[in-house]
Amino acid sequence: MASFTLQGIPVSRGIAIGRAHLLRPAALDVKHYLVAQELVEAEVLRLQNAIAQVHVELQAIWADLPQDAPTELGAFLDVHALILSDPMVSEAPLDIIRTRHYNAEWALVTQVDELSAQFDEIEDDYLRERKADIQQVAERVLKVLTGSSSQVPSSDGIDERTANMVVVARDISPADMMQFRDVAFTGFVTDEGGQNSHTAIVSRSLGIPAVVGMGNASQLIEQDDWLIIDSDAGVVIVAPPTMVLEQYRERQALLLKQRKKLSKLKKTPAITQDGVEITLLANIELPGDATPALEAGASGVGLFRSEFLFMERSGEQHQLPSEEEQFDAYRKAVLGMKGRPVTIRTLDVGADKPLEAAEHNILNPALGLRAIRYCLAEPQLFLTQLRAILRASAFGPVKILIPMMAHGFEIEQTLQLIAQAKKELTAEKKEFDADIPIGAMIEIPAAALALPMFVKKLDFLSIGTNDLIQYTLAIDRADHEVAHLYDDLHPAILQLLQIIVSTAEKAGIPLSICGGMAGDLRLTRLLVGMGFRELSMPAALLPEIKQAILNTRFDTLQPYVKKILRSYDSVVIQETLGNMEALGKTLH
Ligand code: PEP
Ligand code: MG
Repeated sequence: MASFTLQGIPVSRGIAIGRAHLLRPAALDVKHYLVAQELVEAEVLRLQNAIAQVHVELQAIWADLPQDAPTELGAFLDVHALILSDPMVSEAPLDIIRTRHYNAEWALVTQVDELSAQFDEIEDDYLRERKADIQQVAERVLKVLTGSSSQVPSSDGIDERTANMVVVARDISPADMMQFRDVAFTGFVTDEGGQNSHTAIVSRSLGIPAVVGMGNASQLIEQDDWLIIDSDAGVVIVAPPTMVLEQYRERQALLLKQRKKLSKLKKTPAITQDGVEITLLANIELPGDATPALEAGASGVGLFRSEFLFMERSGEQHQLPSEEEQFDAYRKAVLGMKGRPVTIRTLDVGADKPLEAAEHNILNPALGLRAIRYCLAEPQLFLTQLRAILRASAFGPVKILIPMMAHGFEIEQTLQLIAQAKKELTAEKKEFDADIPIGAMIEIPAAALALPMFVKKLDFLSIGTNDLIQYTLAIDRADHEVAHLYDDLHPAILQLLQIIVSTAEKAGIPLSICGGMAGDLRLTRLLVGMGFRELSMPAALLPEIKQAILNTRFDTLQPYVKKILRSYDSVVIQETLGNMEALGKTLH
């Protein structure tokens, strides 16, 4: 068979080599026939029974979720149960059977096609991807209707062959994903999906190479084809020639060796060769991420993006998480970090992280009522979150981080609300850390330029470089049309960082970076040389950054840093950065 290469969206890291295990969607094989009038109610009952059986199946999968299952899997299962209960899925097809006399499978597929077409019209990527959930739920019902069993091999039969199989599917439901975890597949390839699809989210948390959004890969790849997944490049090589296979096996072995070597550094502090210590922290999205953060050797959580607890909720129809639910989540993260500090950022919704679909109508959401602006406009919601965070602080060191601060009165109002939450909890005899540190994200140029406004009133600062770059360079960080203008080495960004680090140092206020620049290996030496001492990043990136720090001598960085900061020429900046990079190669 001739070899060919397919390109998709990379969603996790590493290389996987294995044979294709194809999952064909049941929907492709549905039968179409008309039901006689006297059999219509029996056909309705057949569909109702199948739906009821899928409810039972989903509950059983829920009950069997292992302790260490990624948290989001439970949430996905909830979403599927809700979809199944929605009248658009559970009742509308019954009407189709009654009015058009379609058989149950045909009626279900007709209704799902109609719903899918409506989803295609939605502009928001995340919501559009939820179309796949409806299709996955329908496929489950179809499997029951056609009496076909699941196509997932049972975990009893794990042998070397199963362990080296790559799942190839149109899409993968969260329930199947859970079963795949036990079967220890080596990689995932799907036609559909994007950065937010289940396959992406779960494969990232399982650390399994995956490429999604491949178009029609599941049609082009055949059962048992040899596949190479290069998930860093988002590439799948089908039926690779022996030479290519060998090259990738070597690369895979090398990566494995590097990872093993790096994991030995877990307990080694990140100190340069001339004794400058850098604190490396993890960014997390859900409380369950605390375990991988510890595994990666993080000294704490530098950014817990709490908004993920508020989004993706179809639970009780967009109801916000209660104080108890939030408290549980924050406490879980705090306990998970075993005494290391956890910095919880208060709700940062708006712009690319809308709380409600209606927000898409806002003219300029990145400049609108987002983050702290939203919280101050909704004080009750904010107070609920502050109370939950404060209560979690009774279980370990917690810091409160406020996003998008720009005005003095925002600081005042926030501090007043925190004081109010503390007063309420004291009156209720609920425990919390009375001295909980409060900090601000510095991610608006105005905040960077007016830093003295913050240093007197707050306990620490954390730079959100993602937004700082967006607002300084006036480019929407989520718009691929201007992605080429997103430049973290733009002289304006470097000048702002320099202003922040020197002002914070003079004021003696702790400062960290929790935006993407902190986890960018190209920039580690520059940031250390500029004086940053705390970097917070996705846990998976932490070992490599630590290694770079261990291979650095702080005193050798200064001439390069000075040259970069004095230059307004991007060629000189890039060249000097390259020379700084080369410095590490001579040290070991
Ligand atoms: C940032 O803006 O750099 C940041 C860390 O916050 P977020 O990416 O969540 O906006
Ligand atoms: Mg931000």
